[in-house]
Order: sequence, then structure tokens, then C-alpha cells
Amino acid sequence: MYMKIKLIPERCIACGLCQTYSDLFDYHDNGIVKFHQEDDLLEKEVTPDEGILEAVRECPTRALLGD
Ligand code: SF4
Repeated sequence: MYMKIKLIPERCIACGLCQTYSDLFDYHDNGIVKFHQEDDLLEKEVTPDEGILEAVRECPTRALLGD
């Protein structure tokens, strides 16, 4: 089962929370969210796990979307 994760970097406040839940997420030098080892990608199909779902749920600005 796959899930599409979407990043909305303009909403990200660089709080650093999402990477504590999942290594799917990483940050540009300015702390804004990106996918691990991907500088430009804004959508990715992943196999969801609890950490990814938690990151989507807990992002304070809803900069991470999953569907
Ligand atoms: S949890 Fe949300 S606001 Fe915080 S770094 Fe991740 S995407 Fe940005």
C-alpha cells in the first residue's frame, strides 16, 4: 500500500519536528523541510509507517500532507 506525501515548504517554520518521527524528512540548510536525499521533489509515494503518519499529524503548520 502506498501513500502520497506532499511537502508545502512555504508553510514550514523549520521547527525540526518531522525528522524526529521519520528519516523520510530532511532539511535544507535554512531548516526548511525536504525529502531525504532529494532537494527539489515535493511529492513522493511511500509505504506509510507510524513515524511518517505521526509526522504528518504533528506538523504544527500542516506543511506535510498525506493521502
Ligand atoms: S514539522 Fe512541519 S514545520 Fe516543522 S520542520 Fe517539519 S514540515 Fe516544517
